Amino acid sequence: YRNANPIKKLNDELFVYVAKKEQEVNELRRLEKFRREFLADVSHELKTPIFAAQGFVHTLLDGAMNDERVNEKFLMKAAKSLDGLDALVKDLLTLSQMEIGDIKMNKERVDIQAMTKEIFEQLEGKIKDRNVTVKITAPTEKTYVSADNQRISQVMTNLIDNAIKYGKEDGKVVVSFEDDKKHWLISVKDNGAGIGPEHLNRIFERFYRIEKSRSKDKGGTGLGLAIVKHIVQAHKSKISVMSKPDKGTTFSFKLDKAD
Ligand code: ADP
Repeated sequence: YRNANPIKKLNDELFVYVAKKEQEVNELRRLEKFRREFLADVSHELKTPIFAAQGFVHTLLDGAMNDERVNEKFLMKAAKSLDGLDALVKDLLTLSQMEIGDIKMNKERVDIQAMTKEIFEQLEGKIKDRNVTVKITAPTEKTYVSADNQRISQVMTNLIDNAIKYGKEDGKVVVSFEDDKKHWLISVKDNGAGIGPEHLNRIFERFYRIEKSRSKDKGGTGLGLAIVKHIVQAHKSKISVMSKPDKGTTFSFKLDKAD
């Protein structure tokens, strides 16, 4: 007969309920831990440029101002720290908006090859400094994708900027476009020192840098790839990376084609 053991049934239901609650509590704990660590990371990253700028300005006020040569040098260093702070705050805002899911992708028809040429022009100073040869390879002259122009420009800028920064001096950076009927596969390739397998999964985490001091010298915020990952995901795509130590690194992702 039915309901032979109502106590057992109640017990089972209670068990399921408790298990579910336990899961919810764990998820809340995880979020709380994430929030705490994020705040600690951010405070630390903000402190560095603030302390540096503060140091230069106070040294100037304490008398260094009277020496014209020191004066200009210190002001330039303070300005550089403040520029870094500005970039960091902007990246942080972008990242937190993306993490909340607050940013709508504004899809339009974008000529991504023309965009790449523009980015090469914007980065001309850095390209010359490191004596890098840049190149585009594509089967056709026009490669149209359906994407958020501004956001994808940020993705391409971050990847190309990294390829120049962390690639080889006197090296080569190649951006290529390949066709698979529905998508364009976009790759950014350098022939630099590469990324060890133990770091490959982690470079997309915020503030993760392989050689902390060397990467910091190169002037990034440590948020570039975290932002890249979010933007590419918001286009329902995935960023992937392949790297061989001493041979170089290739980042790639797909975007929907547009006619
Ligand atoms: P950063 O502002 O430090 O450049 P990113 O998020 O853009 O931050 O990159 C994270 C780290 O990944 C960098 O600090 C660097 O150590 C490593 N990295 C990124 N791109 C490359 C590359 N093309 N070759 C080698 N290492 C790279």
